[in-house]
Amino acid sequence: MNNKRTRIYEGKAKILYEGPEPGTVVVHFKDDATAFNAEKKAVIEGKGVLNQRISEYLFTKINEMGLPTHFIRSLNMREQLVREVEIIPLEVVVRNVAAGSISKRLGIEEGKPLPRSIIELYYKNDKLGDPMVTEEHVTAFGWATPQEMDDIVHMSVRINDFLSGLFLGIGIRLVDFKLEFGRYYENDMMRVVLADEISPDNCRLWDMKTNDKLDKDRFRRDMGGLVEAYQEVAKRLGIIQQGEIVERSLKLVKND
Ligand code: UDP
Repeated sequence: MNNKRTRIYEGKAKILYEGPEPGTVVVHFKDDATAFNAEKKAVIEGKGVLNQRISEYLFTKINEMGLPTHFIRSLNMREQLVREVEIIPLEVVVRNVAAGSISKRLGIEEGKPLPRSIIELYYKNDKLGDPMVTEEHVTAFGWATPQEMDDIVHMSVRINDFLSGLFLGIGIRLVDFKLEFGRYYENDMMRVVLADEISPDNCRLWDMKTNDKLDKDRFRRDMGGLVEAYQEVAKRLGIIQQGEIVERSLKLVKND
């Protein structure tokens, strides 16, 4: 494709390039998978395409709900155009059912529904291994203002209600997920917008009937079948047709 693009940043699963107009960024979804703060790594062909398409679908719906996001449009199977934002250094985890770190930390059996949805905050810092923090830390250290935290919590609750219902409709339990937010300056106005991605890389999605994991835990826990699981999510959302295989999408990308 266009090799003259300026690379702004390369992360674990995505590369950011300067966008075609000021204030825009191109996000390229890689096939790289990492877990446990990048101690475990692999390349899983087809993952980037599936994540891009699932995230495009979910961000479009969230935009349609009237919640602001960084998403503008997809450019091809692997890339999307987004608004340039200043990332707020927080990982906002929303949980409906106990799994992963909350199960370990508090000794709650995986799969146990939580008495109510819980929002947790983690300080986004790889060197420190993304430590859990409270709103007190966030506002005291100035990572976000109290008003921004209000917007973040309010949007996270609405996104959880919306996504839980959407996945319920296709036989999937939304166990938990992680969101990131950014600041977007529109004229002199600053607002908080949803950023990053929503895909099986940062959600726990369990089949309602079988409890099969349709998310990145397949990689974290060496279960195999990750692309097949992500494809299943995309099929149920109606993003890819029954029979459409990722290899086809990959060929289209390679011919770019
Ligand atoms: N998560 C994520 N990035 C992270 C940590 C967590 O996307 O750096 C997601 C993860 O996929 C899960 C949810 O946030 O859907 C809760 O993760 P948890 O705290 O249980 O941590 P984990 O077990 O993944 O270490």
